[in-house]
Amino acid sequence: MTPYEKLLAEAEGRPFAAIVGWPVEHSRSPLLHGFWLRQHHVAGHYGRLPVEPKRAALEELVAFLRRTPNARGCNLTLPHKIDIMPLLDRIDPIGQRIGAVNTVVKQPDGALEGRNSDGFGFIATLRYNAPDWRAGAGPVVVLGAGGAARAIVASLVDAGVPELRLLNRTRSKAIDLGVAFTPADGRRIAIERWDERADALKGATLLVNATSLGMKGQPPLEIDLTHLPHTAAVCDIVYIPLETALLAAARSRGNRCIDGLGMLLHQGRPGFEAWFGVKVDASPEQRRAVAADLGV
Ligand code: NAP
Repeated sequence: MTPYEKLLAEAEGRPFAAIVGWPVEHSRSPLLHGFWLRQHHVAGHYGRLPVEPKRAALEELVAFLRRTPNARGCNLTLPHKIDIMPLLDRIDPIGQRIGAVNTVVKQPDGALEGRNSDGFGFIATLRYNAPDWRAGAGPVVVLGAGGAARAIVASLVDAGVPELRLLNRTRSKAIDLGVAFTPADGRRIAIERWDERADALKGATLLVNATSLGMKGQPPLEIDLTHLPHTAAVCDIVYIPLETALLAAARSRGNRCIDGLGMLLHQGRPGFEAWFGVKVDASPEQRRAVAADLGV
């Protein structure tokens, strides 16, 4: 049985979506979406599709989505978020700006639209966990310039942050990101030196770790928080472990802390709503289920 046949058999004729990646076995997306399907009594299915990182394999995926009436779309994880784009019929504006998509939605006319919901997930968890944080209140520091940082920087610019300070080990990548996302209205994206990250925290209202530092198996993020105002929120998008050394240090000095699991849960909402037509929200029960499965 091919992975496509397996997915169709599991779907049993119901509308369905799936997480597409290589590898894809580790993904918690089926758990996340399965929770919403059960919670809202939706007659639908969300499965897994291992798709090799080859153009022909992605073309096969796209052909499958097009010809299968009950296929509503998919999520994309590594390494497909960029390579899928030229095979789709259109990309939403935020996906175009970020240059990567994590969601494909089959439109009523059959067209396949690529979208990016990582920035939505980031802002949603920020608003949920730090409701009194105001985008316009002051500078925000973002560490990292990879795929996740691109989505986060775009979402913070769109939210109205007046000054973004961007730091990355490879400075040229931060400069590229700054050039791509500096708004035309005079607000600044300042590229600071990675080695001077402690100084960059002065006056910040929010610190975001969008690097992979602190993730299980990776070195910790070393940063001196002395200059970070105690009123600032600290968000680490790493979610294994949930309480990274950064969050533990920030929490111990009284900063509001936001872990990476909320972003993971919230980024799934727009896709689910588009595929299955039901509005959903992240809940403590869903969070507990995913955290337990992750062992965090
Ligand atoms: P990525 O594109 O590979 O970017 C990795 C980033 O980490 C780059 O900025 C890289 O800097 C930096 N980095 C890696 N090792 C470093 C080191 N030793 N010292 C300093 N900087 C280092 O990865 P990504 O997709 O953006 O993901 C980043 C992290 O976010 C991962 O842990 C991922 O699991 C997590 N994530 C979480 C969510 C969520 O929903 N919570 C969503 C997406 C990603 P260089 O440019 O110098 O290499």
